[in-house]
Amino acid sequence: MTTRPCDGCSEDVTIAGGIAGIWSSSETTGGMTLELVDDTEHFLCYACIDRLPDDEEITREHVADL
Ligand SMILES: [Zn+2]
Repeated sequence: MTTRPCDGCSEDVTIAGGIAGIWSSSETTGGMTLELVDDTEHFLCYACIDRLPDDEEITREHVADL
C-alpha cells in the first residue's frame, strides 16, 4: 500500500498499486490525479475533489483554495 499527500489538504491518501493502479476499480484508492485546464496535474483525495465546483473549469487556484 502506498500513500501520497493530497495537494489540497496535505493528508496522506492511500493509493493502491501506485499510479498504475489508480484507474483500477478493484483496488481501494483514496484519491486521483486531475489534469487541469491549465496543464498542471494535482493529486487530490476524494474529499477535496468533492469540494471542487462542478460547474466551472478547475484551475490551480481552486486547488490552492482547498
Ligand atoms: Zn484532500
